[in-house]
Amino acid sequence: MTARGADAMHALSDQTRSTVDIVLDYARRRVMFHDVPLDEPADPATLGAQASGSITAGGMGAAAATTLFEDILAPACLSTDHPGYLAFIPSAPTKAASAFDLVVSASSIYGGSWMEGSGAVFAENEVLHWLAAEFGLPAGAGGVFMQGGTIGNLSALVTARDAARRRNRAQGIDDPHRWVVVCSQEAHSSVASAAGIMDVEVATVPTGDDGRLHGDAVAAVLDARESAVFAVVATGGTTNFGIVDDIASIAAVTRDRDVWLHVDGAYGLAAMLVPRMRTVFAGVEHADSVIVDPHKWLFAPFDACALLYRDPEQARLAHTQHAEYLDTLTERPDWNPSDLGVQLTRRARGLPLWFSLAVHGTDHYRAAIEHGLTLARQIADVIRERPGLSLVRDPQLSVVVFRREGWSAADYQAWSDRMLRDQRAFVVPSSHRGEPVLRFAIINPLTTLDTLTGILDTLADEP
Ligand SMILES: *Cc1c(COP(=O)(O)O)cnc(C)c1O
Repeated sequence: MTARGADAMHALSDQTRSTVDIVLDYARRRVMFHDVPLDEPADPATLGAQASGSITAGGMGAAAATTLFEDILAPACLSTDHPGYLAFIPSAPTKAASAFDLVVSASSIYGGSWMEGSGAVFAENEVLHWLAAEFGLPAGAGGVFMQGGTIGNLSALVTARDAARRRNRAQGIDDPHRWVVVCSQEAHSSVASAAGIMDVEVATVPTGDDGRLHGDAVAAVLDARESAVFAVVATGGTTNFGIVDDIASIAAVTRDRDVWLHVDGAYGLAAMLVPRMRTVFAGVEHADSVIVDPHKWLFAPFDACALLYRDPEQARLAHTQHAEYLDTLTERPDWNPSDLGVQLTRRARGLPLWFSLAVHGTDHYRAAIEHGLTLARQIADVIRERPGLSLVRDPQLSVVVFRREGWSAADYQAWSDRMLRDQRAFVVPSSHRGEPVLRFAIINPLTTLDTLTGILDTLADEP
């Protein structure tokens, strides 16, 4: 190498060092934030005026780009880990999980195959096997961390349909004109989205008066649609209300008729880690596939969905991609995560949860989930007592839905806008049977009863 080349390398490495320092310093500051700012969305014109022009031929350098992000772009993103963020499903990653997410990026791990990422895949499997045991699945169960519940549900349903097709083929039976997936009317929108992608029909079954899907209603639909049904989806905690279907009675029906049972526990199934809640989820041990999102109630950063199969071979048969350049991977008997869902290249996105679980231990997790369950019950009691407020239903998990008497949808929206403007809370109006309502989704261990009663106090005022 010429002297000039060596100098250039030297200069480059100084610059690289400083870039990495600047970025890691900022990441350290953000992970360690004590009072996370809630922040708020900016409109495109404002961002256009403040932040456009960052992509140039010569580059702006790390200091300027980081400052642009820290001062302009980051404040235009809601902090989903703010204790007053109670809309949708909040996120509350442990510091350990957030910090380790940086390690996953730093390590250039290919998480799709055992050959390339065995150490990472092994650690992810430790977590998946622990979850499978908690849910009562048999020893052979296993799975993969997918991007989110939407892709997890899609992957599970693709596996279920493939299994049904293979069974028909083995028995010499023709496939139905159109396959059908059965779920409740309260099932998450991602089930209908998956059905759209798969071009299958969704048969929605009415829930009982308790808002839960029950086996008898499922049986009626299965008997009417017969062999067209390739899967039943039970929800282990609806997103809107946190309602857990009657999984045991549904499982009895699907087992009896040999139909695939998928349990969508993206939000709620984490609650099963609290011993007194196990009975609420009874029957999940009979599921053929299950999902739970660590980025929801398992305190991992975005994005991760743990997808588990009772018999992972069914998933492998459905999902393994075959190509000449992949033969060297797929012709081995290895555990390749990419064979188990709709993906090939994958980030080892289960590692932040693995690290945090290894650091803190599972008791810590059970206690943190218990905090959300307890807080939901406590604030429900407060709402019951307060004049002008009423509960829409008793919370089963950590979602509390209630109304403020006398307010229109516009009033709720104006109040919600004010809460965000004041940087107090992010609570968006929802609706139930056409009636506008408010909804607290409680995940974050830093959310306290004071946080919530303080928000309720503001409902006494004009919107
Ligand atoms: C959030 C959620 C999903 C979708 O998960 P994403 O990670 O947002 O894709 C699916 N089902 C239920 C019950 C959910 O709560």
